[in-house]
Amino acid sequence: KAEGRGRYLFFTPAMDADIRAREELVQALRHAVYEDPAQLHVHYQPMYCARTGAILAVEALLRWEHPERGFIGPGTFIPQAEESGLIEALGNFVLRRALEDARAWPEVRVSVNISPSQMRCTDFVARVRDLLEETGVAPQRLELEMTETALMASSRDVRRTIAALRELEVACALDDFGTGYSSLSHIRDMAVDRIKVDKSFVAAISTPQGAGLVEAIVSVARVHGMAVTAEGVETPMQLAFLRDLGCHELQGFLLSHPVCATRLSALLAESRAGQGPALQWAGSG
Ligand code: C2E
Ligand code: MG
Ligand code: MG
Ligand code: MG
Repeated sequence: KAEGRGRYLFFTPAMDADIRAREELVQALRHAVYEDPAQLHVHYQPMYCARTGAILAVEALLRWEHPERGFIGPGTFIPQAEESGLIEALGNFVLRRALEDARAWPEVRVSVNISPSQMRCTDFVARVRDLLEETGVAPQRLELEMTETALMASSRDVRRTIAALRELEVACALDDFGTGYSSLSHIRDMAVDRIKVDKSFVAAISTPQGAGLVEAIVSVARVHGMAVTAEGVETPMQLAFLRDLGCHELQGFLLSHPVCATRLSALLAESRAGQGPALQWAGSG
């Protein structure tokens, strides 16, 4: 009895239910990855040239269509996938699908999010190289997005991985810039080709401090010869500010939500014809 009570101090029924729910989620995700990959969908969000409004690149974003719960966003299951080790299989799935889909869109770069544990995998670079060969996509068209936390941690191995990717001519982008621990002076050490300004900074542009911060980020990136993408662009005011600042690419709900591959093909056709958000650009200049 005493033992039972003691245990419950550390392991309350609520925690128990929480752990069980998480285990069930991981089970269901494992099933999806290995037995029923039709539950997994890769959507694409365009990134637009800040000067012309043309679509220059697309970001692959994973979606899971759970048999009972419907569509689940990656914020819910990516952390669990990392903890359970499923992220490797999941990450390979996304990379392969994105490269296969990219064959139909020769004019754009395709960007894939890579989690820290994928980066630490010893055969990660070999796998990227194999997938590029298999799909016939030029390495210059692939970009990998990593977060600061991933780049700051286990730095030597990660640095070696990035160097090997660059040798392949695969580009690396620093995702969610500003939300991690690095300071502006660390940008140079990251040796990435691009930074993606996190949407929380874009959202703060309407305040003088927020605007100043984004200005500083863009100018530091410029000094180091890095391209800048702003994510989370939701208002015409943000668009105009970021464009006038010299941000290279813009991404956000104002321009397009993430869409399925079929819909993306249609958006690219519009973009080629100079339609779509490109027209807003001319008007807002
Ligand atoms: P992220 O890489 O920073 O991706 C951008 C997220 O912001 C996406 O959420 C996108 O739908 C959302 N977003 C885009 N424009 C706007 C906007 O204007 N306003 C707002 N509020 N949000 C916007 P999503 O698809 O839910 O993905 C969340 C995160 O999950 C991603 O953040 C990324 O870190 C991770 N993730 C997604 N797919 C993968 C994947 O295949 N592998 C790995 N390792 N992580 C992934
Ligand atoms: Mg990303
Ligand atoms: Mg991001
Ligand atoms: Mg983000």
